[in-house]
Amino acid sequence: MKPKLDTLELEADCACGAASIAVKGPIYGMFLCCCPDCQLMTGSGHASVAIADSDNVRLTGKLSEFSRLAASGATFTRHFCANCGTTLLGGTSRRTDAALLPVGLFRDQSWFAPNQVIFHRSHQKWDILPDIPKYETYREGL
Ligand SMILES: [Zn+2]
Ligand SMILES: [Zn+2]
Repeated sequence: MKPKLDTLELEADCACGAASIAVKGPIYGMFLCCCPDCQLMTGSGHASVAIADSDNVRLTGKLSEFSRLAASGATFTRHFCANCGTTLLGGTSRRTDAALLPVGLFRDQSWFAPNQVIFHRSHQKWDILPDIPKYETYREGL
């Protein structure tokens, strides 16, 4: 069963304004991911991610996508502006109904309260994390 939070209405534009995302619906999960791929993508110690229902997400503008094999064996696909490269959305073949939202995209992040760290095995010592449960890899059901 999915833990359900309040319905949110979120909108964000990419850096150049050519692409945008709108989300209207509940957020099912909030986490930080320290996997090497997230470090590569963000240029930082972890990615900050919220999970919405992909049916509740609308993308506009010209997007490119890039797929790679994730540590779980699933295919992870990143959707980004074809012009400026801002990541607007991630998706995984493990859960095709899940839209992975990069939290830093949104100006208002007051709603974001991550409750777990995943892939803590590749956590970097300098990256100070909040005092929340930490899992070495994926957590069941995420
Ligand atoms: Zn752009
Ligand atoms: Zn990751």
